[in-house]
Amino acid sequence: MRLPPAMKERAQLIVNVPVRGEPMVYQCSLCGQVFPLSEERTPKQAMSEVRAAFQEHIRESHPEDITRPMAQ
Ligand SMILES: [Zn+2]
Repeated sequence: MRLPPAMKERAQLIVNVPVRGEPMVYQCSLCGQVFPLSEERTPKQAMSEVRAAFQEHIRESHPEDITRPMAQ
């Protein structure tokens, strides 16, 4: 479900609001890839891991978001 180039936005880390007691997860705003928070870490450590995983995801899946300037 990638957006066409003309409508493309920069990838952002978004929160997927939990329902019915499910664990909160973070998602890529562009492709919907899920980045679960580790329950074995403190919230601060888990968030750090999610951010690191997301940066790696951008490098692999959305490299244009790294090199392309925000204003065109
Ligand atoms: Zn993505």
